[in-house]
Amino acid sequence: MDGGTMEQLISLCKRRGFVYQGSEIYGGLAGTWDYGPLGVALKKNIENLWWKTFVTDREDMYGIDAAILMNPRAWAASGHADGFADPLIEDVKTRKRYRADHLLEEAGIDPKGMSATEMDKAIQGSKLKSPEGNALGEVRQFNMMFKTQVGATEDAASVTYLRPETAGGMFVNYKNVVDSFHPKLPFGMAQIGKAFRNEIAPRDFIFRVRELEQMEIEYFIRPDDWERAFEEWRVAMHAFAKNLGLSGERLHELEVAPEDRAHYSKRTIDFEFDFPFGKKELWGLAYRTDFDLSAHAKESGMDLFFFDEETKERFIPHVIEPSFGVGRTLLAVLSESYREDEMNGEKRVFLKLPSHLAPVRIAVFPLLKNRPELVAKAREVFLLLKKEFGNVLFDDNGNIGKRYRRQDEIGTPYCVTIDFDTLGEKPEHKDTVTVRDRDTGEQKRAPIAELTKYII
Ligand code: ATP
Repeated sequence: MDGGTMEQLISLCKRRGFVYQGSEIYGGLAGTWDYGPLGVALKKNIENLWWKTFVTDREDMYGIDAAILMNPRAWAASGHADGFADPLIEDVKTRKRYRADHLLEEAGIDPKGMSATEMDKAIQGSKLKSPEGNALGEVRQFNMMFKTQVGATEDAASVTYLRPETAGGMFVNYKNVVDSFHPKLPFGMAQIGKAFRNEIAPRDFIFRVRELEQMEIEYFIRPDDWERAFEEWRVAMHAFAKNLGLSGERLHELEVAPEDRAHYSKRTIDFEFDFPFGKKELWGLAYRTDFDLSAHAKESGMDLFFFDEETKERFIPHVIEPSFGVGRTLLAVLSESYREDEMNGEKRVFLKLPSHLAPVRIAVFPLLKNRPELVAKAREVFLLLKKEFGNVLFDDNGNIGKRYRRQDEIGTPYCVTIDFDTLGEKPEHKDTVTVRDRDTGEQKRAPIAELTKYII
């Protein structure tokens, strides 16, 4: 079976140390998840691939790492202080809160394009009840930004927010980057970092969380160049999906209707993915016009015009924004790679991860644990490969079959075993090892000196 159910993915993530419930020993904290050793390795591989693809491999990109806490005026300017809200509805009896649009969707009513008042009418009109079967209150807009207090004084002036998207940090640094690097248009800024959203109903594991991580790009362009740049990024996002191993069939584009777009967007495409719980947004691509830079110029009083040396024109650049959620990407990669099959008459679970994403690239085993000469040789091979590849693991626990299964389950593409032939029991095999392929279970003998050729 391919893809796996949510239960299977969640269980594998916990069992094998990918993702744990946040603050689990205290019963958890809704909407938070912690990445374990393998989860963080997979996450970093995804982030590094993104950074390499969109920053270091290009000449027109500038990476930054801005503070999560920002002057609250930035959020007033961007429209988030007033407008970053989701429709909330309450079960009048239990006081449990729900997303009104989600309840409508589940009842088969399409909430797309509806205002809060229209959702309210639709809910009252169809006499919709809460999932507990109770009456529902009125729909109201709920601002999702987390408020916090900066410094020791608790007055209104010290209130700010944890950023709900990383984009803001790039817009407020646009002038700094232009002044330091004098880029020509088009150029982009990129950032990977945490963002926080007080989601009304976090759900679906790491899909909808309250503390999330984003990889975002603000690509600054001449206003008349937006259609070309939008198309270029649409294609680049598909190429990145392919590099992550996400298959074409499970990835879809949704042209977001004008009434459903964020307040700053003139065109948005949602990249949707067939998650085990349905087709949902994975990434977004938006044409943000000059909305943000113009708003920040007005609020801050700073000159955020761009002077084009060639045409001698001064204007506020427009922006194309490709936005990627790290957690959703990781969940899509896990779901895409989850496999169940039968090997040697036994059921097995394995992750068919691309080898450049696998948390462990190679596992090295001595055939037997209690033979010091095998262990010593295996340690030697392990250190050699570790120096070359980094994410190499040594394992001498349990029998060899169990070790293979453990590595299959975490997606390790290659297992290297040191046996008696390696030590010269069969002279023609001296200093060779077996290399086992995760997907086929096939084993080949290879000379230690040539191992790096067998491993991709
Ligand atoms: P949704 O409609 O699913 O709430 P959104 O349209 O609000 O998402 P954006 O504001 O476009 O999302 O955020 C950009 C990206 O950040 C999304 O495509 C997604 O990958 C990620 N993201 C947004 N909200 C969350 C969340 N609560 N948990 C995990 N990832 C998120």
